Amino acid sequence: MLTKDLAICIRTTDFSETSQIVTFFTRANGKIGAIAKGSKRPKSKFDGPIEVFAQGEIVFADSNKEKLATLTEFQQQPGFAQLGKDLFALHCCLFAMELLNSMTDDYDPHPELFDSFLHFLRNVDERRTTDNEQRDVMALLISFQLTLLKEVGLIPVFDSCVNCKTSHGARATSNEFYFSSSANGLICGDCESSFPDRIRLSKNAANCLADVKKILDADEKTLNEIEKILIHHFTEILRHQPKMAKHVLKKISH
Ligand SMILES: [Zn+2]
Repeated sequence: MLTKDLAICIRTTDFSETSQIVTFFTRANGKIGAIAKGSKRPKSKFDGPIEVFAQGEIVFADSNKEKLATLTEFQQQPGFAQLGKDLFALHCCLFAMELLNSMTDDYDPHPELFDSFLHFLRNVDERRTTDNEQRDVMALLISFQLTLLKEVGLIPVFDSCVNCKTSHGARATSNEFYFSSSANGLICGDCESSFPDRIRLSKNAANCLADVKKILDADEKTLNEIEKILIHHFTEILRHQPKMAKHVLKKISH
């Protein structure tokens, strides 16, 4: 059976002299692995070797979901020309891609996550040069990471203490907020001693996490703090630190 779908390439490996194995994140079918026969030939029907972030409409044959699908068509849309020009932005995109690959299962569709990833790549690619480009990219990365956690059903509770359920708003005057990865959410000052893995949050970071609309306008220091917590949280969930995390941490740990 042939299936047509919108797809973004999130991983490639060489299979032979002329062919690749490509992982696509597709809009309607979720993540799929496919063999792209002849993709490395100069005159391949896929416009040459397939690279990560390549996106467009694919057609694939998936006779058996246990095995690799066979890619039969790939109409590549214009790529993200600016992504490679700034190393930090590229690292953030590769990090988002790695998380997307690690946190999703084959043939488990998440159309909103697909749209969010495409939107993230476009926004990073089309961002205007501002005084603080690193801050802007970080805000986009955090927004995508929170969408990813939400889509896979692992979004932490940020609007109240996970333990005693006191709402964040009721404690707005307090300065004591913590995050616990094992409890998957916010911990208030009264409950913190029961959570040995807690990490202290600044008031700004706690406010942003309780109301994610604030992330796009947050200052760089707050965003860096939130990103460090998210990296810690993804590391706990995956039980290893994502490979790209160290490149992002290097730029935000001062
Ligand atoms: Zn509490």
